[in-house]
Amino acid sequence: MNRSNSKTSNPGIKGIIFDLDGTIVDVSYDWVQIKNDLETGGKPVLSFIQNLPEPEKTKKMKQLEQIEDKATKKASLKDGIKELFDYLEKMNLKKALVTNNSKRNVDFIIKKYRISFDLVMTRESGLWKPSGEAFLSVLERWKFHKNDCCVVGDSMFDVVAARDAAINRVIILSEDRNHSFPGHVKVFSTIKDLHRWFEEELN
Ligand SMILES: [Mg+2]
Repeated sequence: MNRSNSKTSNPGIKGIIFDLDGTIVDVSYDWVQIKNDLETGGKPVLSFIQNLPEPEKTKKMKQLEQIEDKATKKASLKDGIKELFDYLEKMNLKKALVTNNSKRNVDFIIKKYRISFDLVMTRESGLWKPSGEAFLSVLERWKFHKNDCCVVGDSMFDVVAARDAAINRVIILSEDRNHSFPGHVKVFSTIKDLHRWFEEELN
């Protein structure tokens, strides 16, 4: 896409910060089961593992990596992502990927589906959702104000991380009609619905 011929985008949104799993790709993780298997006592997996003494830390991390690698191999790009990304590029909007997944799995998905981001932050950054630190780091690197950005995710982790970074524009992809996301969160069931909304907002 030739950006020099692109339209000027709505000054209200300059960049989108996407989550990976459940947002860009369909993937099946049963986090309740995973937490049980890793015996985290209900705690978020990454911070639980990080705080373990060795050798348990390395052992549980390997266990988690095996689960994630298996899920990533089976993951499929969500319908409409390519078209949405083409549109965002045409509108000169930046795209970031912020995920708690590993760089290895992100590289696999990016290469397999030939998608690209202006900025990628994986768990190797040490900044994990639900902390908003990774989002703040994106804003800082892009020199964007929090109101310039919109977070697109699929879970409460994304909502909480956005709140932690004081980013108010939050979009969640969920097919659950009885979801309990807070009122300021926009919920769409498909990428195509989200694409349509962007077109209305940005044109
Ligand atoms: Mg997700």
